[in-house]
Amino acid sequence: MVRIGAVGELFGTDGVRGVANEELTPEMAMNLGRVMGTLKKRVAIAMDTRISSPMLKSAVIAGLTSCGCDVVDLGIAPTPALQYYVKCRDEIEGGIAITASHNPREYGGIKFIQEDGREFTREMDEECERMYKSKTFRIAGWDEIGQVYHDEYKRLYVNGILSKVDRDKIAERRFKVVIDCGNGAGCVTSPYILKELGCEVVSINSHPDGRFPQRNPEPVEENVWLLKKVVKDVKADLGIAHDGDADRATFVDEKGRFIPEDVILALMAKYYVEKNGGGKVVTPVSSSRCVEDVVREAGGEVIYTPVGSPVVAETMLKVNAVFGGEGNGGLIFPEHLLARDGAMSFARVLELMALEGKPISKLVEGIPKYYMIKTKVPCKDKIKLLQGLKEKFPDANFTDGARIDYEDSWILIRPSGTEPIVRIFAEAKSKKKAKELVEFGIKVVKEILG
Ligand code: MG
Repeated sequence: MVRIGAVGELFGTDGVRGVANEELTPEMAMNLGRVMGTLKKRVAIAMDTRISSPMLKSAVIAGLTSCGCDVVDLGIAPTPALQYYVKCRDEIEGGIAITASHNPREYGGIKFIQEDGREFTREMDEECERMYKSKTFRIAGWDEIGQVYHDEYKRLYVNGILSKVDRDKIAERRFKVVIDCGNGAGCVTSPYILKELGCEVVSINSHPDGRFPQRNPEPVEENVWLLKKVVKDVKADLGIAHDGDADRATFVDEKGRFIPEDVILALMAKYYVEKNGGGKVVTPVSSSRCVEDVVREAGGEVIYTPVGSPVVAETMLKVNAVFGGEGNGGLIFPEHLLARDGAMSFARVLELMALEGKPISKLVEGIPKYYMIKTKVPCKDKIKLLQGLKEKFPDANFTDGARIDYEDSWILIRPSGTEPIVRIFAEAKSKKKAKELVEFGIKVVKEILG
């Protein structure tokens, strides 16, 4: 099984992922359905636009209903729309998203959602994995088999977002916006949300197509070259790109330049802390220092977590955070949903543009600039490496690997949970300094491992 991040053998940090019909089969999907069906009485299910998704969804539904669990099938939906539906509907005890998010075309995925709309925590995934392996399912008698219902979720979700932003202020500005849904699940909601925000909408890659004909689903800079071009060509105010299940959004400014994900994370963190007159912002240890810089200046505090969105959301709940998110375009707005939401992200960015009366390029100019360099080196003995790091850098932050902070730079040395490698991130005010730090990190790892 190929996984993203580490939990057990089956579950990664974002549910179960693998090449569809090879690593993630309908048989596995059915048994994962049986796990959830044993735990819950009524769940909602939704899928992204992947070719494998109807197959996996059918198998999951068979597993759920065989354990006496009723299912509400929402059809194609962004993962945050499913999560919002589960959160809002009292009778629904959980959700299942059939999605491989930003992974390449051949992947499929299955992710479990809690009753409050959050993703399953690591502990919950571990419990599910134990049940999956021991096959201790509660199989229903013939007259207790679960039933399948269908429901319409779009109005609920769209209104959920529109009601939280200053819609009139945004509409007044009549922004011209290019949206690139990457042929994923965002196609069925995001262009319509923009229309209802009074924007002039130009959509590209916005028909559902699981072959992802134009680009890879991950909305990183190298994949959104067409969006950058179209924003310039049509003289738009903003470009937006989603990943395959639209829980992430990345942005292009009015000049057609990609805005680094960390910069948008910092911009929103600053907006929230200023609006709340302080507060806590939660983000993984891999996030740029620019987030901490702006949050501190605005009178707030940054709380660092291990890498992965479920632990960010869990920590946000624990510390009553005003905002949180990852440096990959996954932002969490707790007044809406304790999970990443790409549409909520663009609605807030447009709101900030409208309230400040400035183009997006001017708004991000105020965010401190850093250079980040990432690399990886082989590492066969993680325990030895971590022990060595603890001896060498006793004051480092050991939330996830070792993060060593200096005056205006930092380095993160983080063993991978799934591969025999260690990732090294370094960030500094200049490219040269970041490079030196990465080289220092490589040297430290080699010294410890011998
Ligand atoms: Mg995603």
